Amino acid sequence: MIRSASDTVLVCMRVADVATPAKESRRRQCNWCGAAVWASPASEAAAGPGAAVICLPCCHAHLERQGKPKIISVTPDQMREVLDWYRKHRRKDDGTGTT
Ligand SMILES: [Zn+2]
Repeated sequence: MIRSASDTVLVCMRVADVATPAKESRRRQCNWCGAAVWASPASEAAAGPGAAVICLPCCHAHLERQGKPKIISVTPDQMREVLDWYRKHRRKDDGTGTT
């Protein structure tokens, strides 16, 4: 069941599972289980106001019960955050190039 003003949910990784989130991510709380999660600015902007913030395990459980969600495309700002994170955290010896 979606519990927000809109039917949009922002699926976030739990803080316990991600030590180094995307730059400028904020700690939020899963609206369903209360777990601490990371929400990036670009993802919050893409989800829009009124979107429920849920953690990945809650999303997984919801999908098993409810079926197909409508999934929005990754925005350019979200992709920039992912690439910034990757460039900062990839290992030098992973074969992908410099630092
Ligand atoms: Zn949760």
